[in-house]
Amino acid sequence: MKGIVYKSTGSWYTVKAENGTFYNCRIKGKFRLKGIKNTNPVAVGDEVEFDLEENVDEVIGVIKTIKERGNYIIRKSVNLSKQTHIIAANIDIAFLVITLNNPPTFTTFIDRFLVTAEAYGIKAVLLFNKVDTYSEEEKDEIRYLMALYRDIGYTCLPISAKSGKNVDQVKELMVDKTSLFSGHSGVGKSTLINNMETGLGLKTSAISEQHLQGQHTTTFAEMFDLSFNARIIDTPGIKGFGIVEIEKAELGDYFPEFFERKGGCKFNNCLHVEEPKCAIKDALDEDEIAWSRYKSYLQMLEGEDEHYRVDIYKE
Ligand code: GDP
Ligand code: ZN
Repeated sequence: MKGIVYKSTGSWYTVKAENGTFYNCRIKGKFRLKGIKNTNPVAVGDEVEFDLEENVDEVIGVIKTIKERGNYIIRKSVNLSKQTHIIAANIDIAFLVITLNNPPTFTTFIDRFLVTAEAYGIKAVLLFNKVDTYSEEEKDEIRYLMALYRDIGYTCLPISAKSGKNVDQVKELMVDKTSLFSGHSGVGKSTLINNMETGLGLKTSAISEQHLQGQHTTTFAEMFDLSFNARIIDTPGIKGFGIVEIEKAELGDYFPEFFERKGGCKFNNCLHVEEPKCAIKDALDEDEIAWSRYKSYLQMLEGEDEHYRVDIYKE
């Protein structure tokens, strides 16, 4: 039988078969992913094949194979073991929920999120939440930010999770897809999801604070079907994606507006910092590239990564 993993506890997995039935599954033997030691070989979102097995008073599944993942996100353990743990796989859209204030979301945080999504081929969408609360001045700031990110090519939506403004548009983007919501604690992720569908009771908000404080809690992702034919991955504790193993020379490629201009740099290995005749710095001088984006780029280039919590890998 074929199915998708909806829940994982580390030793048991809940798999939804193609016929819609959920099965408790165990894994057969050990699966090892090349190059990555992990305690949890099967992740939420994995497409698996399994056999059914009679187990005293219920039929359980035995997972035999995992389909190659399109992408996956991992968490590095904060404790000494430094083990990586695969949280979720095969994500179609990563939404970043942003608020200007309460709490503030800085552009460096947004840009880091976008770079990682870019590097691993996950579509990123920016949701500017709480638009019902902003002053005229703050609205101007949001207009500015949306124009900035739209010009680069990202989908941006002003929303109010509370009033429901544009929530239907978010739902439209999610149809037939697997989505994941990120953003600082308090930006409105749970409110948004509860507005779309009642009775889910996600962990997203409740547990994230503990992670911010660096406590080690064993938490697992879980996938949910929403009534409008969308899937959502609930991942407690994810604020954003860290970046990992992106070569310095490669970093600029994940800023689309840098990438499309880099052919104009004199040196083909230009880092756009000190080099002469750099098309990126020229575009910066002409205001064709935003300073905030360049600042984020420099910060990432220098490795000032404070959000080093969750990483995405693409195989
Ligand atoms: P999470 O930590 O990202 O899940 O954030 P919550 O969904 O728990 O929201 C944090 C607070 O912001 C709650 O008090 C919500 O009622 C409030 N909130 C969320 N979205 C909106 C919104 O669109 N407008 C207003 N005014 N408040 C919101
Ligand atoms: Zn350059």
